[in-house]
Amino acid sequence: MRIEELPTPCYVVDEALIEKNLQILKGVMERTGARILLAQKAFSMYALYPLIGHSLCGATASGVYEARLGYEEMVLPLRAQGKLCENHVFSPAFREVDWEEILKYCDHIVFNSWKQVAKFGKSAKDAGKSIGLRVNPECSTQEGHAIYDPCAPGSRLGVTHGSFVQRMETDGQGDAAIEERDLLPLLDGLHFHTLCEQDADALEQTLDAVEEQFGDYLPQMKWINFGGGHHITRPGYDIARLERCVKHMQDTYNLTVYIEPGEAVALNAGFLVTEVLETGKNGIDIAILDTSAACHMPDVLEMPYRPPLMDSGEAGEKAYTYRLGGPTCLAGDIIGDYSFDHPLQEGERLIFEDMAIYSMVKNNTFNGMPLPAIALRKKDGECEIVRQFGYEDFKGRL
Ligand SMILES: *Cc1c(COP(=O)(O)O)cnc(C)c1O
Repeated sequence: MRIEELPTPCYVVDEALIEKNLQILKGVMERTGARILLAQKAFSMYALYPLIGHSLCGATASGVYEARLGYEEMVLPLRAQGKLCENHVFSPAFREVDWEEILKYCDHIVFNSWKQVAKFGKSAKDAGKSIGLRVNPECSTQEGHAIYDPCAPGSRLGVTHGSFVQRMETDGQGDAAIEERDLLPLLDGLHFHTLCEQDADALEQTLDAVEEQFGDYLPQMKWINFGGGHHITRPGYDIARLERCVKHMQDTYNLTVYIEPGEAVALNAGFLVTEVLETGKNGIDIAILDTSAACHMPDVLEMPYRPPLMDSGEAGEKAYTYRLGGPTCLAGDIIGDYSFDHPLQEGERLIFEDMAIYSMVKNNTFNGMPLPAIALRKKDGECEIVRQFGYEDFKGRL
């Protein structure tokens, strides 16, 4: 099936473009020995997990469902072929009901607080797991996206230097305090995740803060995890600087370095194909599409950002400008203003770009919207529908 023949709306992920990203990440691993994992939060199209698992060192999860998906769709198939594949998990707070399963699926477990280490750490170690603690180096390196800044004041993500040391070194507080002080030897590694779509200069700055605040503890650790938010596969990203950062931590502290990008694995590797349902006018030209910002690309409203659209320009740049909106009742379900060389026609197809990441993992059926189908474009250009959705997928969640 050609891309023009797919049902709409449809996410199309391009295998060759995923491979191009994987080659870049593989290069970093080969030159440095860093271990790179897929953060499933950004991209969980598991039809591609065997391919991704072959290139990367495994997957990381935000909770028990992603951990299970990574285990069943990446770890088990790769282990069956004799290839090592790691499964990691971090959660701000694990639930006791999930704990057995977490232990079954995961090799690395990262906790968010000393209390969580006290609660689950021993049983994780007894089960042979490598465990870590997420730290907050309190080093904000971005402006604008406050909801994506785990170093913002009052953040619940990661242990700050203040509470790390307080837990470790305060004396005379009774059994509870002593017990927590005894937790440090349980740790195999430290984890931080503070970046979002950033370059290696922000990583360098963050590492300085991590070393300054937690450097005393690093020699006792086996690994450090740099988290995600590294835009490694974006053209112009400073890969050499990233590699210097990796080598610095390896050489200074004798650590294994993990990096767990989500976006970078599937950046610019997918599309959302949609059809123009209707055009109209209210002072400006308007087109209603069969895809919704609110339901099918929620980051457009949440982040917010303007997704690239093939063969279009900025408002006013080309002859015909339209405000593109979704078919929901939400007034703000607007994708953006785009211009075209010709007037838009009903039934015409538009192709949004960079729609592999944070799209199908975040979509919803608000307003009874159908979910887009998911297709894979193979290297020969042929498209294969991986999954289609219907009424039952809407009803089944309610
Ligand atoms: C979101 C997240 C990632 C992936 O981030 P990207 O911006 O998609 O690279 C990795 N690790 C943790 C802990 C995260 O929360």
